[in-house]
Amino acid sequence: MSEFNLIREYFLWGKPIDTVRIGVGDDAAVLKIPLNNELIISVDTFNEGIHFPVETPAHAVGYKALAVNLSDLAAMGAEPAWFTLALSMPVADRSWVSEFTRGMRELAQKHNISLIGGDTTRGALSITIQVMGLAAPGVALLRRGAQAGDLVCVSGTLGDAAAGLAVVQNRLELTASAAEYCVQRLYYPTPRLALGVILRGRATACMDISDGLLADLGHLLQASGVGACLYHALLPISSALKTVAFDQRLDFALRGGDDYEVLFTLPPALLAEVQDEASKQQIGVTVIGHIDAQQADLRLDYAFPDKRRGYEHFS
Ligand code: ADP
Ligand code: MG
Repeated sequence: MSEFNLIREYFLWGKPIDTVRIGVGDDAAVLKIPLNNELIISVDTFNEGIHFPVETPAHAVGYKALAVNLSDLAAMGAEPAWFTLALSMPVADRSWVSEFTRGMRELAQKHNISLIGGDTTRGALSITIQVMGLAAPGVALLRRGAQAGDLVCVSGTLGDAAAGLAVVQNRLELTASAAEYCVQRLYYPTPRLALGVILRGRATACMDISDGLLADLGHLLQASGVGACLYHALLPISSALKTVAFDQRLDFALRGGDDYEVLFTLPPALLAEVQDEASKQQIGVTVIGHIDAQQADLRLDYAFPDKRRGYEHFS
């Protein structure tokens, strides 16, 4: 299969949309940026064996590579618009590429984001996606801005993906249904785009959780120059994860990666309306602690045997 045929067959999707004057097929894309918007851009690389286990099905690789990028747009309160895809793979295996694009395309269509270009090369399996989103000037949600007295909130449940990874790597045994649930959360994280929109003008700080709650909350506190108290009994834990021993499930929830839930801070007076609007989108929002003035200091009412926080590359 030639590179040209591969691109024509798998990366020329759907009908042209009006913000894309030139998409896949020319030397570069030409976009019409809607007036009175800020352009919000993020890029993430997804390497086999590092960011996803070798056994991950192609459909899930395609889905998740886009999902983790959409999660960054969600955390900014941006609306998805366009993305580019740089794909490196050892061989052009038609059935793998077909499943990969099917997974990616399902999610792209759901969130109305257009593939506008990319690059296809030979090499170790690696996917780099750059997403571009839009938001009215000044409304993008940032990591800085949390204030003493704000609540610390998260969407969904925590730790399921980390348990799923442990199942895939044969480090954890669960009942069949709990295992299936957690592996599904690992392979198919849900980018919380509707929540990002709800949080505009309300959350004082916001980010997505990719490297584990403690590590990522640490970044938010650093950026905001505040501290936080977390209460372990408040952490949202799925019924699947509740089948795991107490210490281990807390470890997954606090330090496991790959949740792609939204972590944000909120003035207490806004909690009820945010929870109400989020529940209309089938998104749970849980208060797990509060912000105080103790600069970048994170306190948890639970002691771990060691101090390692989240996943850091090259550490
Ligand atoms: P060039 O040599 O000019 O970079 P390429 O042969 O790399 O051109 O790409 C041809 C066209 O196909 C370009 O419009 C490029 O954006 C698009 N393209 C290549 N690979 C991909 C991909 N994996 N996904 C989407 N578009 C792609
Ligand atoms: Mg190229």
